[in-house]
Amino acid sequence: MATAKKGKKRLTRAFGMPVGDDQNSETAGPRGPVLIQDVHLLEKLGHFDRERIPERVVHAKGAGAYGYFEVTADVTKYTKARFLSKVGKRTDVFVRFSTVGGEKGSADSERDPRGFAVKFYTEEGNYDLVGNNTPVFFIRDPLKFPDFIHTQKRNPATNLKDPDMFWDFLSLTPESIHQVTILFSDRGTPATYRHMNGYSSHTYKWYNAKGEQFWVQYHLKTDQGIKNLTKEEADAMRGRDPDHATRDLHDAIARGDYPSWTLEMQIMKAEEAEDYRFDVFDITKVWPHKDYPPIKIGKLVLNRNPVNYFAEVEQAAFSPSNFVPGIGPSPDKMLQGRLFSYHDTHVHRLGPNYHLIPVNAPKYAPETSYQRDGFMRVDDGGGSGPNYWPNSFDGGEPDASNKDPPFDIAGKAGRHPYSHPNDDFVQPGNLYRDVMSENDRSNLVGNIVSHLGGAHKRIQLRQTALFFKADPDYGRRVAKGLGLDVKEVEKLARMSQEDRAKATA
Ligand code: NDP
Repeated sequence: MATAKKGKKRLTRAFGMPVGDDQNSETAGPRGPVLIQDVHLLEKLGHFDRERIPERVVHAKGAGAYGYFEVTADVTKYTKARFLSKVGKRTDVFVRFSTVGGEKGSADSERDPRGFAVKFYTEEGNYDLVGNNTPVFFIRDPLKFPDFIHTQKRNPATNLKDPDMFWDFLSLTPESIHQVTILFSDRGTPATYRHMNGYSSHTYKWYNAKGEQFWVQYHLKTDQGIKNLTKEEADAMRGRDPDHATRDLHDAIARGDYPSWTLEMQIMKAEEAEDYRFDVFDITKVWPHKDYPPIKIGKLVLNRNPVNYFAEVEQAAFSPSNFVPGIGPSPDKMLQGRLFSYHDTHVHRLGPNYHLIPVNAPKYAPETSYQRDGFMRVDDGGGSGPNYWPNSFDGGEPDASNKDPPFDIAGKAGRHPYSHPNDDFVQPGNLYRDVMSENDRSNLVGNIVSHLGGAHKRIQLRQTALFFKADPDYGRRVAKGLGLDVKEVEKLARMSQEDRAKATA
C-alpha cells in the first residue's frame, strides 16, 4: 500500500488540531468510564458512523480508470462536437465498469449485463456515454424499469435471489427475449472488463454545423478480443476471487498493459429511420451490420488507476443527459426515462452539488450557471457574481449557436402500446441461428436450463414458449433440458401473449 513513510506527517483532527494520543480514550481513571470531553473520540466515532453513502440502486459494484479518447477519422460531416473535430485530437476520459443487479460486495463474475460508462472531459463540458456490454436491453419503456430491477434483486420476503420473480417478469415481457438470449450466452459472464465490448444500446442524435441530423449507435469494440467465462468457470471464479474483474483492470493498468477499445459508429440519415425495417428507437433491437456497417472513428485507452476508490470511483456519477453541442437524445423511450433518472439518483446519492466532486467536475469547461447554494457547495458558489438571468452584469450568457437543431414531432398525447410491425423474435432468432456457433448454442441452453430450472413449472413453460418463438430448435432444446413436454411448449408458443399468460397463470 502506497502511503507516506511512518511518522512523517502530523496526525490531526478534522479541523487540523494536532492529536496527542490516538490509542487511549480519555477516561476517569484507568478503568473508565469514558469522558464526554474526549472530543477526538466523539469526532472519530461520529464520522465513522457516517462513512457509507447509499450504494447505487443499480450498477453498485464497479471499477474505474482514467485514460484518453483519440479521434482516428473525420466525422465533422456528422457532428460538430468539438472533441470529435479533428483526427488525432485527444480527450481525457474516466471510465467505470460495473455489474448491474448485485450489491456493492457482490461477485464480478455474476451473470449480468456489464455497465460501460465513459465520461469525456471536453472543452464544451463533460459528455457521458453511459452504455452496457450488450447492444440491446430487456424493456423499451421506462415505466417498466423499477419493476424489472426488483425482479433481478432479492425477494422481499426471503431476501434471496428468486428465479420465480426473475422469469415470471421476463416471460410476461416478451420484448426481453433478445437481451435474455445475449445474457444467457457466455457473453453474460465476460472474462474481465477488458475483454468485452461497450455499446450505446440506445440510438442517439448527432448533428453537424449545418444542422443536418443523423441517428447513431456507438460500438466500443475491445482490442483485447472478446473472452468469456463458461458457467462453470464463472461459478468457480465467484468462490476463488469475487473481485476478479476489478483486480484484473487495476493490475493490467499498474503493469502498463493498457486496455483499449476501438469506437465504431453506425450512422443513419435522420430521414431514413421512418421506413427502416426495424424501429431505431426501440432499444430491444440492433441495426444489422449489413444495413449500416460500423465505421471506425476513434480509440479509447485506459492508462491510469484511481488513487482513492471512494473519491474517484464510488463518487463518480454519469448521466446520459450530459450532452455536448453536436450530440443529443433520440426519442427512444428508455433513453428519455434515463435522461431524468440518472441525475435524479445522483442527487439522492451524492447531493445537489455532485458536479463539484473532482471526478465529476467539468475540468475543461468551468461551470458558469445560475444554480446556487445547496448542501456541499464547496467552492465560492458563484462568488459575488449575479445569480439570475437575464442580467446586465458579468454573468454567463446563452450562446444561440449551441441550440439543438429543431426536430419534428407530431402525435396524440397518450399511453401508446408498442405497435411497430416487426416482431420481437426475429433478431434473437437470427442471433441463435446465424451468429452463434454450436458450442455457443449448447452453452446458452445449458445456462438457461440451470437458472430457469429453479422457477415454477408454469413459468418455465411460458418462458420456453418464447425461446421457441425465437427459434423452434432453441425452444425444443431448452424444453428438453428442463424435462418439459415439447408439444405443450409448441402449443403455448402459438398463442397470443395474453392467452399464454392466462394459460400459465
Ligand atoms: P452480423 O453477423 O453482422 O453481426 C453479428 C454480431 O453479433 C457480431 O458482429 C458480434 O458483435 C455479435 N456476436 C457474435 N457472437 C455473439 C454471441 N455469441 N452473442 C452475442 N453477440 C454475438 O449480424 P447482424 O448485424 O445482422 O446481427 C445479427 C444478430 O447479432 C443480431 O440480431 C444481434 O442479436 C447480434 N448482434 C448484432 C449487433 C449489431 O449491432 N448489429 C451487435 C451485437 C450483436 P460485435 O462485433 O459487436 O461483438
